[in-house]
Amino acid sequence: MSFPFAKAAGILDTLTAHGFEAYVVGGAVRDYLLDRPVHDIDIATSAHPADVVALFKRTIPVGIEHGTVVVLSSGTNFEVTTYRSESGYDDYRHPNQVVFETTLEKDLMRRDFTINALAMDRSGRVIDLFGGRDDLARGLIRTVGRPEERISEDPLRMMRGIRFTSELSFTLGQAELAAFKDRSLLLKKISVERIDQEMTKLLAGRSVNKAIGLLFETKCFDALPFPEQAADRRALERVRFSILKTDAERWTAFLTALRIFDLHAFARVWNWSRSREKTVSALQKYDAVRKRDGWNPVRVYYAGTELAKSVERLQVAFGRADTASLAGMERDIDSLWKTCRIHQRGELAVTGNDLLKWSSEHPGPWLSEALAMLEKQVITGSVANEMEEIESWFKAWQKQRKPS
Ligand code: ATP
Ligand code: MG
Repeated sequence: MSFPFAKAAGILDTLTAHGFEAYVVGGAVRDYLLDRPVHDIDIATSAHPADVVALFKRTIPVGIEHGTVVVLSSGTNFEVTTYRSESGYDDYRHPNQVVFETTLEKDLMRRDFTINALAMDRSGRVIDLFGGRDDLARGLIRTVGRPEERISEDPLRMMRGIRFTSELSFTLGQAELAAFKDRSLLLKKISVERIDQEMTKLLAGRSVNKAIGLLFETKCFDALPFPEQAADRRALERVRFSILKTDAERWTAFLTALRIFDLHAFARVWNWSRSREKTVSALQKYDAVRKRDGWNPVRVYYAGTELAKSVERLQVAFGRADTASLAGMERDIDSLWKTCRIHQRGELAVTGNDLLKWSSEHPGPWLSEALAMLEKQVITGSVANEMEEIESWFKAWQKQRKPS
């Protein structure tokens, strides 16, 4: 077998030429053997961080204390991590102590699942100490070592395990299933950022419905920071996640099925970025509008075509429309957009200053009200987008606003 990670070859060569061991490890080997796209290539080495920094021209010391140095090579970032083991996880976030090791075996032992504990050397030979290849072939998620112990060390591994069943369409091993059921509450100790990361990946997997089933079956769901009464399992099972394209769409489907509508509170608990909160909140809002009233030019204008198309995919995910109608709906949205006379407020032929000039009033809330009204009229063509017509519309608007 030849070495498939051409871009990483130089790093392995440099390390071995200086007497160190070096292997590609973890997700890259797993995904390569599964014939899935490989995104990042992680390297494990017997070299210490200081050696790695000394050997390569361009490095970033991202986590020296954990043994990780990023090496830039062939236009790509590679995480090069010293063999290590971990002992104790008192805060359930960071291992108390990272110990550098001298053998690959020790490094592979600390890894979570057998399919993630594979390594490949520079000749393309796979090192498989825990039956990872068999598990890849059988489609099984099994921990390295006893599941109870490995989960107690780092309960996030339960979320990771279920996430991998979603991404890879794999099955959780029997002993793992039992151990997850037993220890699901330990997830409450895990930081919400780590949970969110796994949940987001879980929702993007091929077998998300099955994985959500597992969240319920293992009671992991009950340990996650969802509002009380959120668990409407059946509504979730009906959602067709596979049609959805973005994380925001998938979260919207998930939360809407659970009838979680107080997005601001949810976003705060889950420590979401402001931008994720805004997008999901807009999707929920336009999903409700779409369901009730359908689209028109003004709604498409305010939503934007991308968001409107996301909302159409949500209709299919919720079973309110079928897949076959999706392409037609996307075309309709583009047509509605084209009928809009302007496509952003900046294209209005006047500004707030013009309105002020025509008015005897001082600036106040009326001004933004007037601009918003005007914008709507211009979008649909009720008022032409030119100075004079806007001036007469504005004067009429002012009059009917405060009849004297
Ligand atoms: P992805 O495709 O999502 O990147 P991955 O398997 O590469 O999947 P990472 O989070 O990038 O996952 O971690 C890289 C490797 O580090 C894993 O393959 C695994 O060997 C190990 N690892 C990651 N998180 C844990 C954990 N919580 N416990 C034990 N080992 C872990
Ligand atoms: Mg990875």
